[in-house]
Amino acid sequence: MGHKTTILERNTAPLLHDQGAGIVFGGHSLELLERYNRCQRQVAVRSERRQYLDKEGNIVHTVDADQNMSSWDLTYFLLRANYDGITSPYCDDVPPPDPHHGISVHLHDRTVTVVVEDGDGVCVSWKCTSDPSRTGTLTANRLIGADGPSSFIRSLFTSSVERKYAGYCALRGTVVEHEVSTETHSTFANRFTFYHGPGIQILAYLIPGLHGTVEPGQRLINFVYYTNFPEDSPELNEILTDRNGRRHHITMPPGLIDPSAWKHQQDIARERLPPQFAEVVCKAKRPFVQAVTDVLSPANEFLGGKVVLIGDALAGFRPHTVASTSQAAFDAMNYADYVAGKVGRDEWVRQTMGYARFIQKRGVDMGERSQHQRLSLQEYIRDRDEASVPIRHEEFPEWATAV
Ligand SMILES: Cc1cc2nc3c(=O)[nH]c(=O)nc-3n(C[C@H](O)[C@H](O)[C@H](O)COP(=O)(O)OP(=O)(O)OC[C@H]3O[C@@H](n4cnc5c(N)ncnc54)[C@H](O)[C@@H]3O)c2cc1C
Repeated sequence: MGHKTTILERNTAPLLHDQGAGIVFGGHSLELLERYNRCQRQVAVRSERRQYLDKEGNIVHTVDADQNMSSWDLTYFLLRANYDGITSPYCDDVPPPDPHHGISVHLHDRTVTVVVEDGDGVCVSWKCTSDPSRTGTLTANRLIGADGPSSFIRSLFTSSVERKYAGYCALRGTVVEHEVSTETHSTFANRFTFYHGPGIQILAYLIPGLHGTVEPGQRLINFVYYTNFPEDSPELNEILTDRNGRRHHITMPPGLIDPSAWKHQQDIARERLPPQFAEVVCKAKRPFVQAVTDVLSPANEFLGGKVVLIGDALAGFRPHTVASTSQAAFDAMNYADYVAGKVGRDEWVRQTMGYARFIQKRGVDMGERSQHQRLSLQEYIRDRDEASVPIRHEEFPEWATAV
């Protein structure tokens, strides 16, 4: 706050497209909005209970627990409204910029290509994504690498770190709540619902609907369906090859999935899932696929702190942790506190690396147990209960916080 910041975004569109995904808002996501959000609107849908179904669709376990569920697109537009004043159907009451907040510039169609040390700071080179012959440079005191799990910035300083496929994918999608049967709606409304089967986990919860509406009837039922696709298998190839024959590496975006590959998954869903889950999988209109991957940087600062990594660029969590967005929020706030002199350098590194290492390992453990081991439902419930403890109440172990 009070600084001049410039975001270089490689996407060619000035606003990113809706990813069609739900986000479980962890404590740090909410805290970030409490600190910085100036738009007056509801930011999430509440879930009051976690519950588990058996294969027949009966509720077999419940835990009273308040959780806030939002959506990727609402979160994005809230952040853009507050960062650079973008008005949208999500936030049409964008307040004028506060002069104490500094200057914020967002430049799209800029792919970062080179970073070199330059006196007390760094010089960053970019090229236009749409026209690589157009290039430019920018000098800065600090470069924050928030460029996602395949981070280019990270690769410049830790070339041996690899993003590895975990052997399964998340099939994801949404259905408007009024489009499902009454029985299915009453199962999912205001609940965070799970089912575990051999090599399968599926969960669902309500999220805001079109343009972030939280109007009952217009919200979306969002599902995340983990299922195993061995590396290099024909099944993996099928699900990640789009309707135009192009093989995607990690994410099959909404709208591109091959209809026959999706039909195959719908048939499997009908056979293997409780009826309520099978219904939402079969009714999703724009499903997408995320290959689950692991990646962890050994450090969060380079060039004596002139380059910093945050969020997925630092640690790409498995989605079971429901902590990726929360990590990005935590890292951003923790870095802001460090820059403002509110926390010392060692504490900043310890907290940031502690979060990254501890939750990254938890995601790997939860994912391996869920997808590759046959355990009792009680074990999966225990894993989820542990992952639901607010992170501010976690004491990170020494191996995680070692600097
Ligand atoms: C489809 C999908 C579903 C998700 N679902 C969930 C969920 O349910 N729950 C959850 O907590 N999290 C979820 N996430 C993750 C969540 O979106 C991220 O954790 C969160 O956005 C913070 O990520 P980030 O900013 O670190 O990286 P990202 O959101 O990946 O952003 C990185 C940005 O950097 C840009 N970029 C990359 N390389 C360059 C370059 N060389 N030059 C310029 N720009 C570059 C990318 O275009 C991108 O916009 C999901 C992500 C995706 C893609």
